[in-house]
Amino acid sequence: MRIAMISEHASPLAALGGVDAGGQNTHVAELAIALAAEGHDVRVYTRRDSADQPVLVPMQDGVTVAHVPAGPAEPLPKDELLPYMKDFSRWLVDQWRDDWVPSVAHAHFWMSGLAAVTAGRQTGVPVVQTYHALGTVKKRHQGAADTSPPRRIGYERALGRAVDKVVAQCQDEVRELVRMGVPRTRMALIPSGVDSERFTPEGPAEPRDPDRPRILTVGRFVERKGYADLIRALKIVPGAECVVVGGPPGANIETDAFASSLRRLAESTKVADRVRLVGAVPAQEMPRWYRSADILAAAPWYEPFGLTPLEAMACGVPVVASSVGGLADTVVDGLTGDLVAPRDPRLLGMALRRVLGDPVRRFAYATAALDRARQCYSWKRAAEQLSAVYATVSGLRSPTGAVA
Ligand code: UDP
Repeated sequence: MRIAMISEHASPLAALGGVDAGGQNTHVAELAIALAAEGHDVRVYTRRDSADQPVLVPMQDGVTVAHVPAGPAEPLPKDELLPYMKDFSRWLVDQWRDDWVPSVAHAHFWMSGLAAVTAGRQTGVPVVQTYHALGTVKKRHQGAADTSPPRRIGYERALGRAVDKVVAQCQDEVRELVRMGVPRTRMALIPSGVDSERFTPEGPAEPRDPDRPRILTVGRFVERKGYADLIRALKIVPGAECVVVGGPPGANIETDAFASSLRRLAESTKVADRVRLVGAVPAQEMPRWYRSADILAAAPWYEPFGLTPLEAMACGVPVVASSVGGLADTVVDGLTGDLVAPRDPRLLGMALRRVLGDPVRRFAYATAALDRARQCYSWKRAAEQLSAVYATVSGLRSPTGAVA
């Protein structure tokens, strides 16, 4: 089957760690590869953000990235991309009429959904939608600091009714979508996966001080990831170091404003000598960092899915996480790690101290975490479940022969 994946701001070829490059990029890249392995022909449409990008770039067997000319050929914050979605959809229509006609379009993020639905209406291509994040949730947590276009929530609600299927990634998202008025019958719950061949407990690890417990946290430099809460929590986790991976490239970390604010906080709470800001790490080096950690902390205020805890689990690292969004599904409290209320440094610190101080518990969590990541969260499983969804909405047989 020919599958068009639309991911307007998140290219599967982008470097990760920056403000707008993280989980969605990984998700789209891994899913495209897994769908190609199922026998599909996948084309990923993403906005052209550099003048020297060729229109079509082969990513690997069965996956091609198409750079869509919509707006200036330079990086733009994702919240500024809405005005260019008309051009984006026009380009899709041109392509899908006579060049490469997909059986289904799978949109990632709401703006991709708008482009896909507009193009789909003109070409008859059915549309599947994954939101990745919801405007209602962002507004609730960020209030006036939310820079999303003002009509985002209305568009997301309308999309839920306009598309052929909505793919939710966790139970919390299902509940949120129901509250928005998206009928449950229009949804499929298909969580993201993790590459258990790349993320393994065995293999090279980043060097570390064996006498100092290491808490690792990973993600884009945005406030809602809760790094400040983690730094505050460190005060009641004596002796442990906190390593933060993500943000700008390491060479720019000294001058980065967000990094400076974290450093100031660490100084004022007297833990500066135990906090290390590494900067962005290339995706292929991530397993080395997870393997070097005793524990992964994920302390977001909210989290649509959250790939990093799963990646850590696949490396046999227990997770202490906020009990929010996808983390409440992936981390089994008391079995693969601990879940704590978000935005509460005291609870977070107590959980970290308890796990770090109890090697037997840590070993049990690590074993169960590894098992859960491997058994329940492969990209192959996600691709199989999506293939069935695509077959249903396109009314076709899937290439594997399974009837929808
Ligand atoms: N990541 C990376 N290098 C970094 C920071 C993050 O490769 O320096 C990757 C990380 O391994 C994961 C993704 O970016 O695959 C972050 O996804 P997550 O769902 O945790 O967060 P999001 O970006 O969606 O908020």
